[in-house]
Amino acid sequence: MLPDPFIFSKAQLEKRGIKIEKSLGEGIASKDWAYDVGAGAKKLEKLRADSTAKLPKNIRAIAKEGLKIEELYSKAIASTPLKLQNYLFKNRPIIKKGKTDAPAHYDPNIKTIVYKEQPQIIILRHELGHHVDKINNYTSLKKLSTLKIDQLQLLKHQVEIEDLLKNNKEVYLNDLFYLNSNRAIGDKTRKDSKVINFELQAKETFANIFEIILSGNKQRIKIVEQYFPNAYRAIKKILERL
Ligand SMILES: [Zn+2]
Repeated sequence: MLPDPFIFSKAQLEKRGIKIEKSLGEGIASKDWAYDVGAGAKKLEKLRADSTAKLPKNIRAIAKEGLKIEELYSKAIASTPLKLQNYLFKNRPIIKKGKTDAPAHYDPNIKTIVYKEQPQIIILRHELGHHVDKINNYTSLKKLSTLKIDQLQLLKHQVEIEDLLKNNKEVYLNDLFYLNSNRAIGDKTRKDSKVINFELQAKETFANIFEIILSGNKQRIKIVEQYFPNAYRAIKKILERL
């Protein structure tokens, strides 16, 4: 993982085909503004604030909201390898405020992530996982057939996993275990009564593991690798081939 996801060298940017915008000063990447290479950051920030301030009053708030989401999106994908980052820039979903029961949800029909309030980065990454899955014809349904092997293993490690979850109260990890263990494990954070079939398991497992991979968090990745070795390997392969 990079020490700071927002700092890239000039050479790294050029390798990605991103031009350094001379008129803005050294160190500003023109194509995707989030790649702040240092000195130019404040200048670009001011430029964006100024242009937003010039907008008619009624759309100013929307523009500000949009910029915030832009920033969050860039952060959400910043820790992944460049090839996947490029893919996620080119194939991004629509992200907009709207009506939703959950903090956010993904609507596959309009390829849109709908959120209530500014979503947490972890939620944005999860919903983005559903989007990537959808635009690849729900590849999770085919490629995660080996999930069943992981599920059988989970039951053998039930006590161990329950212990792990006791110390690790993370909702998304909990969900992952819950979905794949027929609710035997990890049910502390869920109160739904959804029918858990293979389709739900595959799609949600894809989104959850996608989110964990995007987080770049070594500890979380280690847990997934240990208890979902087949699913993890399959998802890594899917992402590498995008
Ligand atoms: Zn989901």
